[in-house]
Amino acid sequence: MTKAFDTIVIGSGIGGLTTALCHAQAGDKVLVLEQHTVPGGWCHSFTLDGYRFNTGVHYIGELEDGARVRSYLEGLGLGADLKFCQLNKQGYEHILFKEQRYDLPNGKDELYAYLVKHFPQEKKGIEQFLNKTEKIAKEIGSILDMEKLSDLLKMPVIAPSMIRWGFSSYDSLVRHYIKDKQLIGLLSAQAGDYAVPPKKAAAPMHVGIFQHYMNGAYYPVGGGLKIPKAYLRALKKYNAEIRLATKVDAILTEGKGKSRQVTGVRITGGEEIKCNKIISNTDPHQTFTHLLDKKSLSKRLQKRLHKTKYSLSCLGLFMAVDLDLKAKGFDSGNYWLFDSNDMNETFRQCSEEELLDKDDFPFFYLTITTLKDPSKKNKNLHAIEAFTYVPFKPFEKWSGSGPEDRSADYMDFKQQLTDKFISNIEKLIPDIRGSIRFSELSTPLTNIFYLNSTKGSIFSTEKNMFQTGVFMFKPKTEIKNLYLCGASTLHGIFGALVSALFTSKISLKKPMKQLLDFKDKEIKIFNSEEMASWPEEFHTLIKGNWGENFSGISTPASELKQLFSGNDAIENNKIIIPSYEAEVE
Ligand SMILES: Cc1cc2nc3c(=O)[nH]c(=O)nc-3n(C[C@H](O)[C@H](O)[C@H](O)COP(=O)(O)OP(=O)(O)OC[C@H]3O[C@@H](n4cnc5c(N)ncnc54)[C@H](O)[C@@H]3O)c2cc1C
Repeated sequence: MTKAFDTIVIGSGIGGLTTALCHAQAGDKVLVLEQHTVPGGWCHSFTLDGYRFNTGVHYIGELEDGARVRSYLEGLGLGADLKFCQLNKQGYEHILFKEQRYDLPNGKDELYAYLVKHFPQEKKGIEQFLNKTEKIAKEIGSILDMEKLSDLLKMPVIAPSMIRWGFSSYDSLVRHYIKDKQLIGLLSAQAGDYAVPPKKAAAPMHVGIFQHYMNGAYYPVGGGLKIPKAYLRALKKYNAEIRLATKVDAILTEGKGKSRQVTGVRITGGEEIKCNKIISNTDPHQTFTHLLDKKSLSKRLQKRLHKTKYSLSCLGLFMAVDLDLKAKGFDSGNYWLFDSNDMNETFRQCSEEELLDKDDFPFFYLTITTLKDPSKKNKNLHAIEAFTYVPFKPFEKWSGSGPEDRSADYMDFKQQLTDKFISNIEKLIPDIRGSIRFSELSTPLTNIFYLNSTKGSIFSTEKNMFQTGVFMFKPKTEIKNLYLCGASTLHGIFGALVSALFTSKISLKKPMKQLLDFKDKEIKIFNSEEMASWPEEFHTLIKGNWGENFSGISTPASELKQLFSGNDAIENNKIIIPSYEAEVE
């Protein structure tokens, strides 16, 4: 054993970084170990050929004044380093069913007016649906704010709608109020945010997402990586250490049964690092069956792990295109293109293993990041990220290979999938094919390599109703001082953030208020649709030559060196950030 830490965090996703920061702010000596060369997990960004792309940050809600995500991020002391841009308020979601397009606006009143205009026959149901989902979301908030377990006894009084709908599917909730199939489809389209048919998803989870974006949808200025960067600066301030390209191979424990407790970790290469507490930000399968000996776990946990399902994986198409997309009517909102308005069928079809036998994927999601934040525009081209969901199985036979040694048949399969994906996108952007100047497709194998996610899953455990809410994995595990946090316990960026706060609250035995007592500055918000109002320092960047210093496909490590140049430096994969100054890059 070498150096001792109070707390080791395995993984630097937003959940891992949040627990690391809470523990560092509470005075713990903290070490974060991240297997990838870039921090952030699904929040990391990467640069290919000078074009900046994101993995899992496309929109985040509740960043309005006083809203929950803003108060959490500011409360952690990250306000000075975070800027967000608000997506098109008149259409933060563009939902396309065949020929029909809907543009969902922010704001309950605006959404009500919009929906009633398109579905006048459903006026009453729309009103009841919006009121009920608002109520459920408020009740979820009250539950999140509960400090003691005994507060749950107050549920019938403070959360009656949760008692009614908490164990029902979202599909049954929406159908309770709405009869029109197209409107049911429209109000269920955000199932794309969790990749499960709405009839398998718990009502509170979908409602939570729907209401999360109700008053605004935001994207971090500079891309997803700005979020881990803000955390790293804060962690440095509290003397925490982060080691990149450092994979944990084993969690070390001593004792048996109820007195079994963690003693440290072993990283690739054999080094053992001692600590009192471990917080795992990787998924339960990785934590319990790869980092621990499965047979050493209780029968109950073994059974649970055996039954646990993981979410679908994805294909991600990252492109730079030479088109004036703004002039063509595109904006900062999200584009969701569905083959049918039946979301149960759409997300069921996403599990089908034959990926090339049909012309179309059941759906795709597309965002033009340079219309949200043009400060990362390169060569004046637009950066597009598009995703569709696929199972792991068709890729399994190549899972032993890495990015450097993929076989010819895999590359051929990837090319066919890319062609199919581009053909699908032509339905949204007809002249895209000839305008693509750069493209790269990610597959489930990419997710395994960069995220170490089980079967390339995108949302960790499958977010079906038997694995969310009260059935989720809990922060505390059966091994003393081993905790979980992140998307395996709650969903999305908001969920991973909240789960990390809960884990920290339990592990540090501190009330949430104390964990969020580090507010320094406020987060700044700009408007993606009003570039002229952005601060002066962005205007040269907005002109579209940010990536001119990047050429070729930069390796993540060299990219990170460039990203952290100036105030920051990297030594032996440890990020050293000497000064705490906000910067624009
Ligand atoms: C395509 C896509 C789009 C998304 N879009 C959105 C969105 O717009 N809004 C939203 O709210 N959410 C979105 N999400 C979900 C969201 O990004 C994730 O749920 C969230 O970021 C997960 O955070 P986490 O804390 O669970 O950690 P993760 O991001 O899963 O990070 C876990 C980290 O652990 C590391 N790790 C794993 N094993 C080891 C090991 N043995 N040793 C060391 N390190 C290890 C991994 O490399 C990784 O960095 C999206 C997800 C995907 C896939």
